[in-house]
Amino acid sequence: MNYKETLKSIDTEKALGLIGIEFESQGAYAKFACPQPNCDCKAAIKEYGDKKNLYYCPKCKSSGHIISLVMKIKDIDWDAANEFLLKARSNHAKRITEELNINYELFYNDFIKSKGIEEEMCKLLEIGVPKGKTMLAGSVAFAVRDTKGMKVAYYGIKMKDGKAVFHNSFNPELYLYNFCNIDFSEPVHFTTDMFRCVYNIESGRQCVCNFGLPYLSDTQLELLHQVEHIVLLVDEPLVKPLAIQMAENKMNYFRFE
Ligand SMILES: [Zn+2]
Repeated sequence: MNYKETLKSIDTEKALGLIGIEFESQGAYAKFACPQPNCDCKAAIKEYGDKKNLYYCPKCKSSGHIISLVMKIKDIDWDAANEFLLKARSNHAKRITEELNINYELFYNDFIKSKGIEEEMCKLLEIGVPKGKTMLAGSVAFAVRDTKGMKVAYYGIKMKDGKAVFHNSFNPELYLYNFCNIDFSEPVHFTTDMFRCVYNIESGRQCVCNFGLPYLSDTQLELLHQVEHIVLLVDEPLVKPLAIQMAENKMNYFRFE
């Protein structure tokens, strides 16, 4: 593997764990203590997509990638660091090929209601708070289906802090929520917010969501390519980066709302 492939295939959180670095995951980034000896700031390393596994410290401006970080922390050379990182190869880079055999008993509650989503919609799309001790306890779980409608995972959003929670076998970059229900010839709304997505579906619009990622992955762009008319329902900071991505990928007609 060349080093770019290595960077793409390494699971950032797994790698940080292996070298004993504590981190806090925030969206597409993991934040950790800057490796520069005299710096007390947090560096951020990208966990997904473009610039994956590259880090940067906003204070001392030091930067690098996961391989150089391993070399530094473990005091080993390039080859040894690469070898070491094989253990942190992502095991969820693949599309899921078998139907999920977990069926949570899901409950509707006031939290979901506060998002403007009705119970009927939750039943239809399999959304709710799972009963009992599961990885997604305390979260609103959304059943995720692939392009053919096969259930592949549950994607959870913690009610207390809005953080995402899902099993390692699921890679959100490979899917778009609700894409299996889309009629390509009609306008399709896109949002990064799961609740907003369901709210729009309930309002009679076609809507898909990229599970809160702050960008569109290659697979997600490929999926959207089939759509004739895309309407982007995204927050202000994402308008420009998404517009650039869409233009670069020669999207069909798209507009922001
Ligand atoms: Zn620093």
